[in-house]
Amino acid sequence: MKVIFDAAQKRHYPGFFLTSGARAANPETPARADILLSAARDAGLTPEVPPDLGLAPAASIHTPEYLAFLEGIFARWQRIEGASDEVIPNIHPDRRGGAYPLSAVGQAGYHMTDTSCPIGAETFPAALRSAHAAAHAADLVRQGDDAAYALCRPPGHHAFKDLAGGFCYLNNAAIAAQALRCTVPRVAILDIDVHHGNGTQGVFYDRADVLTVSLHADPTRFYPFFWGHADERGEGAGLGYNFNLPLVRKTGDEGFLAALDRALARIAAFCPGALVIALGLDAYEGDPFAGLSVSTPGFRRIGGKIGELALPTVLVQEGGYVCEGLGCNLTAFLDGFRASHRVAEGALA
Ligand SMILES: [Zn+2]
Repeated sequence: MKVIFDAAQKRHYPGFFLTSGARAANPETPARADILLSAARDAGLTPEVPPDLGLAPAASIHTPEYLAFLEGIFARWQRIEGASDEVIPNIHPDRRGGAYPLSAVGQAGYHMTDTSCPIGAETFPAALRSAHAAAHAADLVRQGDDAAYALCRPPGHHAFKDLAGGFCYLNNAAIAAQALRCTVPRVAILDIDVHHGNGTQGVFYDRADVLTVSLHADPTRFYPFFWGHADERGEGAGLGYNFNLPLVRKTGDEGFLAALDRALARIAAFCPGALVIALGLDAYEGDPFAGLSVSTPGFRRIGGKIGELALPTVLVQEGGYVCEGLGCNLTAFLDGFRASHRVAEGALA
């Protein structure tokens, strides 16, 4: 099994972050990638640099308007006298869908749902390489690998088709699922990050060909606040193809694994040809976000249960922040997954 990563993903180094209105260091640091890469090696994975796939993977999910914004906004921002070093929104539309502004400040508000996704000089190139990692991992699985791990950083699951948020710019899990859809009629995405995968839900909300399932801390009092409730089930053709399992804050291994059983049963009933795991590790009991209380042995059990689905699988890194257990949790998940994961010959054919 391979770990897909390019060191250029580390050049994105966001500075700005607000927590409950107070300035703090942005926790989505390049050090996360070093820890996760080292842990993937410990689990026996082979590193591979993704090829340059250009804009195509991002364009398979995101709008041309949004990609043009991401590509050009940093240079435009530098021309504003007295502007911040990074692009940070200070105004948001009450309801999106009105006039599209021409101003850089207006567009930043339009395309950025919060202040935790500042855009610097290296943000878009790094996000593109992160998307390439996801797309290449999907290509490897389409070509016959049982599974591949995309070390996506920056992460992606809070990014909608035309909206950044929560450290995310391009939705890597959605990009992987769309790449798998080239050859697989039905793809399931299971998001185990502590935060609801609101962007992924939004991308596929009206589609029946990609099932989106998310386990996360109850958003009533936790980011992303406005999405992730159990009654969000999809719309139009997608009605019934979005399944949210919000969990009480501080839920531990047993509660998480019980919810995971429900998620896996829904996925099995969908009969997908391939699986994407939005692999957040921030449900950990020691993670700085402190939403849930999964232990390191718990991550091994989670990986084991997911492996038992026996589906061709793309693992896409989401959250999980610097703390003493971060690397161990990835290694534990991968060990559990690989111990149980057996894909039938020709499963994708
Ligand atoms: Zn998260």
